[in-house]
Parts: sequence; C-alpha cells; structure tokens
Amino acid sequence: MELLLCQVCGCIAAQNDDGVLWLQRDHRDDWPGWPEGMASVEPPICVPCVAVSLRHCPALRRGAVVVRVRDCSVVGVRGVLHRPGVLGPVAIGAVTMSYGDPGVRWVLASGLVRELRDCTLVRFEELADQAA
Ligand SMILES: [Zn+2]
Repeated sequence: MELLLCQVCGCIAAQNDDGVLWLQRDHRDDWPGWPEGMASVEPPICVPCVAVSLRHCPALRRGAVVVRVRDCSVVGVRGVLHRPGVLGPVAIGAVTMSYGDPGVRWVLASGLVRELRDCTLVRFEELADQAA
C-alpha cells in the first residue's frame, strides 16, 4: 500500500494521467459520487491482475468497478486497538482509524488506509486499451 504496488502480483500498480488503478466492490448505492472520499484498506492493482481478481475473488463476483484515482493520500491505519492495562496494553479489537483520531496512538497497525479522491470510473472494456 505504501509504495502503491499491485495487491495481487506486487508489481507497480497501473497509473496514467487519470490516476492509479483500483479495483473495488461496487458500492455505488452507498452515497452519491461514490467512491469519492472512500477509505480503502485494499492496495491498487495492475491491469493484468484485474481479470485474475475478478475470476478468483468471490466478493468481487457480486459486483466490481475499476476506478482511476488521482489523489490517494495515506490518511490512517487499520490494526488492533489497545487500551492501557495493569501489565501493559490490552487488545480491544480490530479498527480502521484516521491519523486525526487521538486514539490512533493505541493502534498496533497492520496496514495503511488511503482516501480515494478525484476518482474516475473506468469501464472494464476500456482497460484493454490502457497501457498502464
Ligand atoms: Zn498485478
């Protein structure tokens, strides 16, 4: 996630003038303009791995979209939230938390979260024509 590598093969994720390529479950009904402002815990993807993911990921078979994202700043972490304990920190549970939340200092992070901004939905048929 930090280096914007493909979540499937680990090569550099696809990127062109419209932004970095992301493959997401289709949640366009969640809010107008989705995925604008969405927090993604999944890294981007390269063009060849889109087809691989669609074939092998059960969640994506229920509906997926490809998105180009121009602004994907790291805004937080996911991990395990802890609280102070007598013998040391005590795990409470899994969370996704922004860096702006004061509680983030109690999270043992396992991954970064990027906020997707300046998004453009791409039709799957257009991907074959995109070089990167
Ligand atoms: Zn890949």
